[in-house]
Amino acid sequence: MITLGGALHDIRSKIQNRERISSEEARWLWHNASDAELRDLAMQVRARFHAPSACTYMVMRIVNYTNVCVAQCDYCAFYRLPGNPEGYVLSEEQVFAKLDELLALGGDLAAFNGGFNPHLPLEYYCDLFSAIRARYGDSLEFYALTIAEFMYLADHAKLDYAAAAQKFKEAGVHWITGGGSEILTEDFRRRHSKFKYTVAQYFEAQRAIVDAGLRTTATMVIGFDESIDERLEHLERTRKFQDETNGLASFLCWTYKPYFTQIGGIEIGTEEYLRHLALSRIYLDNVSRIRTSVLTQNERALEGLLYGADDFDLPIEDEVTQKAGATISLQFDKILNVARRLGFTPTYRHVPQDRAETVPSL
Ligand code: SF4
Repeated sequence: MITLGGALHDIRSKIQNRERISSEEARWLWHNASDAELRDLAMQVRARFHAPSACTYMVMRIVNYTNVCVAQCDYCAFYRLPGNPEGYVLSEEQVFAKLDELLALGGDLAAFNGGFNPHLPLEYYCDLFSAIRARYGDSLEFYALTIAEFMYLADHAKLDYAAAAQKFKEAGVHWITGGGSEILTEDFRRRHSKFKYTVAQYFEAQRAIVDAGLRTTATMVIGFDESIDERLEHLERTRKFQDETNGLASFLCWTYKPYFTQIGGIEIGTEEYLRHLALSRIYLDNVSRIRTSVLTQNERALEGLLYGADDFDLPIEDEVTQKAGATISLQFDKILNVARRLGFTPTYRHVPQDRAETVPSL
């Protein structure tokens, strides 16, 4: 049992000694530590992996290849049900045009994210990814799907996750990311997203992805109606998965945008986001790369570098969050200057050359 007196001192000592904090201690920090204290502890854990002024970034685009989806998550403003006249599927030529534009803007990472479209067979994806690899080689890397889409496609094609991962690997895929995870508790899934997946299925799929030799990441979205305990449960599951697999290249958290969604709500402030980022850095002591979200926090995301983050995207498009209220700026220098003013030296991280990265052991 943690008491107020001395609790912060005990947690600080643990972190200085590179000991792991418990979920109860994380809960205590969330409720009792000041912003400055959380920041300080997060930067201590960050220093185990990165030089104090170092940070990395990349220019990327999310390619929303279809908005047709049957999952009906109540926090989503992006999807259209099959048969809706606003539904679309991008052709190969349209995808190439988006990738060409990304390269012209200096980016070299695309992340595919669409809906659970029952009219798209596995071949659509495998053909598309093979064609991208053939056309761009290693000049451009792509995150092919989120785990959520991967699960839907595998089920739809009546393949187990191992076989589906192998199919994508043969199509030239290197990455299937942890997107679509929002909050990983069974109760959250039942409340908001009951047709998407169960938490047990999510980790089963992610394990198959790691076992197939593909790279993956962890993500999280906060600011729905989730409790602090649910946020901690998500972090606990993530840390455990990383202990077991060492397969997570990074952790990225962003905030829910409530505009034009079924459940609506009020957007949480950047201060709460930064506190959560710091807590994530402290708790996820086995994940080297903690990323801050320019897509949802704009320039203020760079303050996340002072709360334990070390990496960020400069996105040029993401229809999913833009439909729910996110705004995007292409003034990259202006954003990078914010990081510089905060005392950091941003270095471009080229994901095509980053494939061989390993997660350093503590
Ligand atoms: S969040 Fe993804 S899975 Fe859920 S409704 Fe939107 S597009 Fe579909």
